[in-house]
Amino acid sequence: MLKPDKTKFIFITGGVVSSLGKGIASASLGLLLKRRGLKVSVLKMDPYLNVDPGTLSPFQHGEVFVTEDGAETDLDLGHYERFLNISLSKRNNTTTGQVYGMVIEKERRGEYLGKTVQVIPHITNEIKRRILDVADDQGGVDVVLVELGGTVGDIEGLPYIEAIRQFRLEYGRNNCINVHLTLVPYIKASGETKTKPTQHSVQKLREIGVQPDILICRTEGPLSQESRDKIGLFCNVPTDHVIEGRDVFSIYQVPLSFEAEGLAEKVMRLLDIEQIPVELSEWRAFVKKIREPNKTVKIGIAGKYIDLRDAYKSIMESFIHAGVENDAHVELVWIESEEVEEKGAKSMLSQVSGLLIPGGFGERGIEGKIEAVKYARENDIPFFGICLGLQCAVIDYARNVCGIVDAHTREIEEEVKEPVIDFMSDQVGITQKGGTMRLGAYPCNLKAGSLAHKIYGKESISERHRHRYEVNNSYRKILEESGLLLSGLSPDGELVEMIELPGNRWHLAGQFHPEFKSRALSAHPLFRSFVAAALEYQEENS
Ligand code: GLN
Repeated sequence: MLKPDKTKFIFITGGVVSSLGKGIASASLGLLLKRRGLKVSVLKMDPYLNVDPGTLSPFQHGEVFVTEDGAETDLDLGHYERFLNISLSKRNNTTTGQVYGMVIEKERRGEYLGKTVQVIPHITNEIKRRILDVADDQGGVDVVLVELGGTVGDIEGLPYIEAIRQFRLEYGRNNCINVHLTLVPYIKASGETKTKPTQHSVQKLREIGVQPDILICRTEGPLSQESRDKIGLFCNVPTDHVIEGRDVFSIYQVPLSFEAEGLAEKVMRLLDIEQIPVELSEWRAFVKKIREPNKTVKIGIAGKYIDLRDAYKSIMESFIHAGVENDAHVELVWIESEEVEEKGAKSMLSQVSGLLIPGGFGERGIEGKIEAVKYARENDIPFFGICLGLQCAVIDYARNVCGIVDAHTREIEEEVKEPVIDFMSDQVGITQKGGTMRLGAYPCNLKAGSLAHKIYGKESISERHRHRYEVNNSYRKILEESGLLLSGLSPDGELVEMIELPGNRWHLAGQFHPEFKSRALSAHPLFRSFVAAALEYQEENS
């Protein structure tokens, strides 16, 4: 295996429980290094056996984050992109399914020369190869953050921790460190902070031969010196490397808390990187605006996974970014689309100043979504459709304006009489890409003078897709003649990518997912403009 020239590696593991925010911690540490002028990339290693999360239910996994090159990845990649303002690719997320897939493929090709193929060294070598691969990102990076999904002690995670152990042995401790994120719970009944779970999770790591260099202790309140001393002593970590990771009001505050604890400086010292001053003024101003907005606006999101907010992670974050740029707090009102079917759109939408219909799959709740779009359209409430949201808007328009009463999408009705949304595989030649899905970045041309054109400020854009169905071209004429503007088309003119309604103040939808490209310090133009329209609506209607 090649020795990395200069790249340093930071392995981030988690102990005690899941959901401690390893993704946010990794992104935050990455930001602190980047703001010191270092080039940073990230790898998320997911120990599950699925090849990618594309086939996992949102209930199991939350959002599937789509990269420019069309990989369906873990939602942590969204945090990395938003914090670090970089675009990642399929090589920034690896899974056990991919690792084993590759090893088995090589075995079938006879590449192991009669050897018995084993977890050590063959699987661990493949993991190490994938870690090294990321060092070449952006023409070579200074630091790779490698986040291991799951919790120390999981059976699935073992080969990865073993690979980390080998990696550190091969490349030296001043080139690779382990940052372990753990939980230090506060037990109300006894009024005590407990360090034992942390001790146990570090023991688990050490059993496999990995000694953490830094512990980030997730706590509700401050971490006392006494607790730091105790954790340091029992976990064999210098006390000043026991870092407090206290709950904060926003994930964007985390880098600032880590900076106050001197995390990046300690990491750099361990990695023999010269200390460089940090530049965080823009980030601080951004966090201040999240904390102290001057206005509030309510926006409804009608979806079918509304109990599971992780399914809409990137959308929620996009609204934070767009809120900051409008000096407003965007309060999201979650609308169960099936409830719209029962109670009617009016009762569900009377409270909000904007409606967003996000992406989605399958039948449940679709009639409620279509009804919600209709209500927003008829009452000139700002409406923003994303992917399935665009499809619902087209169905509403076809049914209720063009008079095509049987209009529907083939996704829901195989034998649909009027397939305004249909499978258009022949036009896109998508069969080679991710099965039958159109995935990843595609260019789109905007009609001059359209709202979309005005918002983006340019005629040619590129956005990320993840869908199977498209607007059926046979219905384009009647939709256009009835007043719907097809404001964005694929460069060959064959695919409808954006629609809008010129008569309304803000009725616009995209077949793509703009939420994947919103960044902390630069909100996506569509979200920014939609929030502005909702504020205007609120002003007029209050
Ligand atoms: N289910 C729709 C399709 O496959 C929309 C997908 C989405 O919203 N991401 O086309």
